[in-house]
Amino acid sequence: MTDYYELLGVSREATQEELKKSYRQLAMKYHPDRNAGDKASEDKFKEISHAYSILSDPEKRAHYDRFGTADGFGANQGPFTGGAGFGDIFEDFFGDIFGGNFGGHRRQRAAKGNDLRYDLDISLEEAVFGTEKVITFPKLQKCGECNGTGSEPDKQPEVCSACKGSGHIRYQQGFFSVSKTCGKCYGTGKIITNPCKKCKGQGFIQEQRTVNLKIPPGVDAGSRLKIVGEGEPGVNSGPNGDLYVILDIQEHELFKREGTDLFCDFPISFTNAALGAEIEVPTLDGSAKLKIPAGTQSGKIFTLKGKGAPRIGSQQRGNQLIRVFIEVPKKLSLRQKELLEEFAAHSTDDTNKSFKDKLKDLFTGVEG
Ligand SMILES: [Zn+2]
Ligand SMILES: [Zn+2]
Repeated sequence: MTDYYELLGVSREATQEELKKSYRQLAMKYHPDRNAGDKASEDKFKEISHAYSILSDPEKRAHYDRFGTADGFGANQGPFTGGAGFGDIFEDFFGDIFGGNFGGHRRQRAAKGNDLRYDLDISLEEAVFGTEKVITFPKLQKCGECNGTGSEPDKQPEVCSACKGSGHIRYQQGFFSVSKTCGKCYGTGKIITNPCKKCKGQGFIQEQRTVNLKIPPGVDAGSRLKIVGEGEPGVNSGPNGDLYVILDIQEHELFKREGTDLFCDFPISFTNAALGAEIEVPTLDGSAKLKIPAGTQSGKIFTLKGKGAPRIGSQQRGNQLIRVFIEVPKKLSLRQKELLEEFAAHSTDDTNKSFKDKLKDLFTGVEG
């Protein structure tokens, strides 16, 4: 059995870095793309790739060092049939140079479709209580007529003569074999001779897509809903992209939201403030009663428990905070004026006592 260290031309103490460097050099040398049709090189390439896949994995390497074999770690699997993480290593080395095609497996990669973003404005009520929405947006979809092939249903596309179906044109640039996307078939490897009439050979058509959204209670501005598979279609049987719905909350006439709490300013009459009263205040659930004690001052904040917004996934709601301000009537009837004048005549001077005391202290402080 070939010794993996020997194969890679490194000592048994080689570091990961040395391993990688050596493998890289050898892989370049024996890469099938640089040795077209040379079976010996191809075999050698597979051997070194396999050796590297074992030695670059610390666990497999330790096992190999102890037992001289990688059995028990799927050692019989070829490098192209499922060595875990191998594709990544390979991409790392060759992705840029060889255009991602390797080992003679020339086919276009399956790729996930593009994700889509949809911005949706909802009302504060909808955000707090949750809602269902129907959104419609333009989306590329696989053409149903040709099933995405771009060719008339009963016609097959021809293999591209320029790249022989690989989608890539290879040329030598100094030491490297460089690959670029075939300009004739734009990398598809196929030439459509009888384009589908519906999609004009694109394989995709832009259609209006309608999706039903369930928006849970408690969402806030910036909340993101992910709808799996509602993005653009994947390439070469890759999965569809996803749709991200980004929520924004419309400004509310009365309420400002901060987390799970709702704030509002609410006017009360100066008589209610002075005498106390039970008033009706608005909440998102309808009107609620609020007790104003006698002598309430402007700016006083009252809390209505459980009238705020919930957190997503929770039944429990935050609070509504009501800050009252006292409205002074701008117009008085003659009678009202009389009454207020009488009220003023009866008022003692200590309505503002505490404030006056403070002023006095302040002036005393300055003079002293
Ligand atoms: Zn079509
Ligand atoms: Zn081509």
